[in-house]
Amino acid sequence: MALPRKKFIAGNFKMNTTSSEVAAYLEVFRLETDKINDIDIVLIPPFTSLTKASEILGGAQKIRLGAQNLSPEAKGAYTGEISAAMLRDLFVRYALVGHSERRRLFGESDEMVRRKLVTALKSELRPILCIGETLEERQAGQEKAILESQLRTALEGLSAEEISEVVIAYEPVWAIGTGLTATPEQAQEAHLFIRDYLGKMAGTSVANKARILYGGSVTPETARELLSQPDIDGALVGGASLDPRGFAKIVAAAVPADEK
Ligand code: PEP
Repeated sequence: MALPRKKFIAGNFKMNTTSSEVAAYLEVFRLETDKINDIDIVLIPPFTSLTKASEILGGAQKIRLGAQNLSPEAKGAYTGEISAAMLRDLFVRYALVGHSERRRLFGESDEMVRRKLVTALKSELRPILCIGETLEERQAGQEKAILESQLRTALEGLSAEEISEVVIAYEPVWAIGTGLTATPEQAQEAHLFIRDYLGKMAGTSVANKARILYGGSVTPETARELLSQPDIDGALVGGASLDPRGFAKIVAAAVPADEK
């Protein structure tokens, strides 16, 4: 029988938290999650707080760091950009690519998302690829076509081994920062579709092991039911990750019932 997929909970702080605020956050969050094991926990503060977070966490295996963005280029004359090597230097393990705020507010195309994803993979940063439909697309019944096209552009031509390094985050755009959450059934349906499509691209073994996170207004109250769906392997949490106690409750909701 296939091993159960380890749950994965990531907190995207967006443009919030200075480095001293991150230090205070970690003090509380580490205490609150002290007794929780066997969950992959990833904190994604702004670039400017990564150094402090990295110093505090040191080589700790339990809480990993992620970046909210990265340059598709390796180095050079790209003012204002941050490279994968700079992130690796701070022990960052993950990088968000294709977050809907980057697509919508900063004009990132599917092609740019792919370039960033490939750069991350080449640099041994694990990409968290965000995909999801807008409200208009869902109302027009196009959500699966959108998910398929975003996955295809980002992953086509990559080897099964490369695809197995990618964490997918299904984030319906209409649920991000809006207080609207997909129902567990809507999210499960999308996750199953994504897993099936990954199977077509990279084979069933990669698809069965892939971690597919749900993101969109997850709270301590909604987390447990979402996380109990068979194809929801974790959560990418924005607003609710800013409170260390509340976020620790979301992490606790991911612990399988038989381990509590
Ligand atoms: C996100 O930023 O990825 C996100 C899901 O935000 P929120 O939880 O605030 O909707």
